[in-house]
Amino acid sequence: MCGIFGIRGADDAARITHLGLYSLQHRGQESAGIVAVEDDGTAQTVRKMGLVSDGFEEDRISTLPGHTAIGHTRYSTAGSSTIDNAQPVFVRFRGGHIALAHNGNLTNAVELRAALEAEGSIFASTMDSEVIVHRIAKSRAAKPEEQLAEALSGSEGAYSLVVVIGTTLLAARDPNGFRPLVMGRLGDAWVFASETCALDIVGATVVRDVAPGEIIAVDAEGMRSMQAPAAPVLHRCVFEYIYFARPDSRVFGGSVDRARRALGRQLAKEQPAPGAELVFAVPDSSNAAALGYAEASGLRLEHALIRNHYVGRTFIQPTQAGRDAKVKVKYNAVREVLDGRSVVMVDDSIVRGTTTRGLVALLRGAGAREVHMRVSSPPITGPCYYGIDTPEREQLIAANMSIEAVGRAIGVDTLGYLSLDGMLGAVPDGPSGFCHACFSGQYPTQPPTDIKRYRSGV
Ligand code: AMP
Repeated sequence: MCGIFGIRGADDAARITHLGLYSLQHRGQESAGIVAVEDDGTAQTVRKMGLVSDGFEEDRISTLPGHTAIGHTRYSTAGSSTIDNAQPVFVRFRGGHIALAHNGNLTNAVELRAALEAEGSIFASTMDSEVIVHRIAKSRAAKPEEQLAEALSGSEGAYSLVVVIGTTLLAARDPNGFRPLVMGRLGDAWVFASETCALDIVGATVVRDVAPGEIIAVDAEGMRSMQAPAAPVLHRCVFEYIYFARPDSRVFGGSVDRARRALGRQLAKEQPAPGAELVFAVPDSSNAAALGYAEASGLRLEHALIRNHYVGRTFIQPTQAGRDAKVKVKYNAVREVLDGRSVVMVDDSIVRGTTTRGLVALLRGAGAREVHMRVSSPPITGPCYYGIDTPEREQLIAANMSIEAVGRAIGVDTLGYLSLDGMLGAVPDGPSGFCHACFSGQYPTQPPTDIKRYRSGV
């Protein structure tokens, strides 16, 4: 998953983009980058591994000139985690520069790349996003938005994009609307971001979502929009509401906080825990769901797990070794809350079961008498090919065993998941128009034909 940000028409575009990236850090922690573009088309880029806050050359960013900038925070879903794969992708071509920041995954990137390579194209990265840049450069269309439209025709899967071609800022969303992308105003400037929390931090006001299948262009003449010829069929990622987006954001026009509370309330209705004395969240992503569970069940909400905020999202570590090491240092249990009690732990999802198993051991170690786990989404049984780093089926604990067996494997007394219908009924603007392939196996587009090559990017 990734976070993207773009602005055109501000004096300190790079500094504002830097600020915006702070609010999109949760969407990707492997690398970050900014490209700033001056009105004559001169462009500069800074990209780095790691967090936005750590090691970015602050002085350099605040002096990057230009009224236009785009930025990206990345964690890899296809292509490896190296500086070559840090975004924005930035190249020179006959029309000046192209800079591109992508959230999502093209499911046919391997085929598109092979076709370009057969014609002699060479690639600097293993990212699917670089394919789009090549296709832009090949387009003979006159206007930047037409070049982007041509590049995207035939691209399948998920893409929310901010792009600069020459000095034109473009924003685009795939016709399924898999990933969010919102548009705002900051004085005379136009701003685009994955989530509204990034508009809040820079002081921009929300205008509306970029529509599925829409391309927006902003240049010296102002803003204009074009819509893809095919009618959009909505498949917004429901996991944005469950886990990914920040609760202070609105995505797909709905409040993430309200969505998670409703999921928690629905979970309490479907999966009560008779005899339990209190409920708590696995911080932070399930805080709002636990609030909803407490509200609907009448159980007292407690803080039983304390999270070390100096450790990043465990799951976002691209390797299993990295994840295992981080689980141990990320959480601790509060004995005073747990000792001798029968408790309900609410989490938003179980993926591999690694984190959860470790957490349950912590709760037992702190004296919990009974542990009842409640999950505010259904069992994850399939990988995501649209931008979330859900692993292949073999590693998904619920894809390979019954719910009772998952419960035993993670060491809880009882385990209850939210139903698919309960989830879709609880999220804003549900139940239709969402992608829930990771829970239901219903993939809205053709999954990649060669999974190994899709994962490696080449
Ligand atoms: P595990 O117990 O190893 O399956 O990890 C489950 C935890 O990972 C839950 O606390 C989720 O909030 C979190 N999680 C779920 N999906 C993702 C994701 N795509 N990226 C990062 N963390 C995730």
